[in-house]
Amino acid sequence: MEKIAVFAGSFDPFTIGHESIVRRGFFLFDKIIVAIGYNANKKSFFPLKKKIKWIKQVFENDPQVSVDYYDGLTVDFCKKVKAKYLLRGLRTSADFEYERATAQVNKAMYPEIESVFLLTPPEYTPVTSSIVRDIILHGGDASKFLPNSIDLKNFKVGNNKNEK
Ligand code: ADP
Repeated sequence: MEKIAVFAGSFDPFTIGHESIVRRGFFLFDKIIVAIGYNANKKSFFPLKKKIKWIKQVFENDPQVSVDYYDGLTVDFCKKVKAKYLLRGLRTSADFEYERATAQVNKAMYPEIESVFLLTPPEYTPVTSSIVRDIILHGGDASKFLPNSIDLKNFKVGNNKNEK
């Protein structure tokens, strides 16, 4: 049976840390769905449409990766797309505690789901979406924390008002 994994997150924005987890997942899964959690009541820094476009660019030569978005519970999305695995990345012990609770609750809601954790390479431990957002907000160059194909240099903060 095809092994389908969901890599879920807000990806606000998608970083080199996220990319490395997905690429390492190629050795474990037949198909990986990068799923952007979208909450209509919670504003994200980058518009959903741009996040989808950027992640698609990163994996344009990797047919085993698809990009989607969902509003609601991650496990409900997994059921919808028939995924039995949740791929997750771990940076620190704080990540571990959060991920442990989330995985245990997900398992209680959807017993067929298995969460699979990959430790990030040491050099990506400090890479977080929130640091990248801060750099961009203050006019800095965050390119070394972003996949090569994502160019945010021309992204204008504030232009995304009203964009989904
Ligand atoms: P969330 O909205 O859950 O914070 P993120 O987009 O930040 O979503 O993260 C999605 C997944 O990617 C999580 O499992 C998170 O631990 C992992 N992750 C985030 N940054 C890194 C990184 N630098 N290295 C490895 N995994 C990471």
